[in-house]
Amino acid sequence: SEPAGPQPIRRLQESLINRIAAGEIIHRPSSALKELIENSLDAGATSIRVTIKDGGLKLLQIQDNGCGIRKSDLPILAERFTTSKLSTFSDLQSLRTYGFRGEALASISHVAHLSVITKTMTDSCAYKAHYLDGRLTPAKPGQSADPKPCAGNDGTTITAENLFYNTPTRLAALRSSSEEYARILDVVTRYAVHNSTVSFVCKKAGTAGPDISTPSNSTTKQAIRLLYGQTIARELLDAKFSSGVRSADEDSMDVDNDDAEEDGWHGEALFTSANYQAKKTVFLLFINHRLVESTRIKRAVESVYSTILPKGTFPFVYLSLEIDPRAVDVNVHPTKREVHFLDEESIISRVSDEIQRTLAGQARSRTFEYQT
Ligand code: ADP
Ligand code: MG
Repeated sequence: SEPAGPQPIRRLQESLINRIAAGEIIHRPSSALKELIENSLDAGATSIRVTIKDGGLKLLQIQDNGCGIRKSDLPILAERFTTSKLSTFSDLQSLRTYGFRGEALASISHVAHLSVITKTMTDSCAYKAHYLDGRLTPAKPGQSADPKPCAGNDGTTITAENLFYNTPTRLAALRSSSEEYARILDVVTRYAVHNSTVSFVCKKAGTAGPDISTPSNSTTKQAIRLLYGQTIARELLDAKFSSGVRSADEDSMDVDNDDAEEDGWHGEALFTSANYQAKKTVFLLFINHRLVESTRIKRAVESVYSTILPKGTFPFVYLSLEIDPRAVDVNVHPTKREVHFLDEESIISRVSDEIQRTLAGQARSRTFEYQT
């Protein structure tokens, strides 16, 4: 038979475009939750409570005590590319917030039933709004779509229900709600370690005890003890890094300030000594406070440990790097999970060297203890 001729090119419908784009950002319940946690942190929350039904597929709810959303912003809240965090392209070079593209809530509204209850400090009551496909929608057919006044605390509660109800293929790919819940717990755990001054709670709806509950105002080490256990916490060593010239008196260097110095970088790590041996590496990596993955950094750290741990055993490593935002490109991937940065090579070798040095120092002091 003859090859078919070219088909006419058609413009995709707006709603289809948005649904496709949403699928790239919201892979599964845990990726929706990651976006929502980041929004709460951006809003300055000190308490974040997550409630889950059916691995987040039936219900994913997050309540924070952050700054809230102004009533007048509610009509465009879930539109694509509406944000309070970025206004010019050059702002991208100095990002201090997790969000910047205004896509998370929009995306969720295209693949779930989204509702929001929010109250700012100056408003006398809270407002509730429902969204579908980027727009305000009535709670029930026939009602008005306008946000309704209601009772509520300062802060914001975001609820996503029936995730992927309109993308059956995606839904079918996520068969196990217990696996999705495990991923949710993992995301909450990691953010709770990195934001140890914020209280996190995560529970299944209708159950009494939360699966995660952290106090506010603890240290990173305390958070690790609470969330990963005493066996790991007991063996933790720490190291600090910076781009400055390494001096003998490193403690006096100003590596604790929140801003990476110009063109520079700094960071800190908590990692287990050779006494701790796990079957798999647990690697928590934050770059500019963003939970990311980097196979290259992970491999480098694992290779440091391969010289001191028995074959087939692995460490726990928490690593937080702050790099001049101008040197980090967060805009490479829709989930923002992968970040690229300049000078990767030298930063990685600096970090591995320092971890190596600390591990070696600890081994030496133990030998010394045994000898005396
Ligand atoms: P982005 O975070 O990239 O700005 P989002 O779609 O995640 O985009 O959020 C859109 C806007 O909604 C944010 O810029 C912020 O102003 C507001 N917002 C979202 N979540 C919250 C929250 N939990 N508390 C206060 N404001 C929020
Ligand atoms: Mg966001």
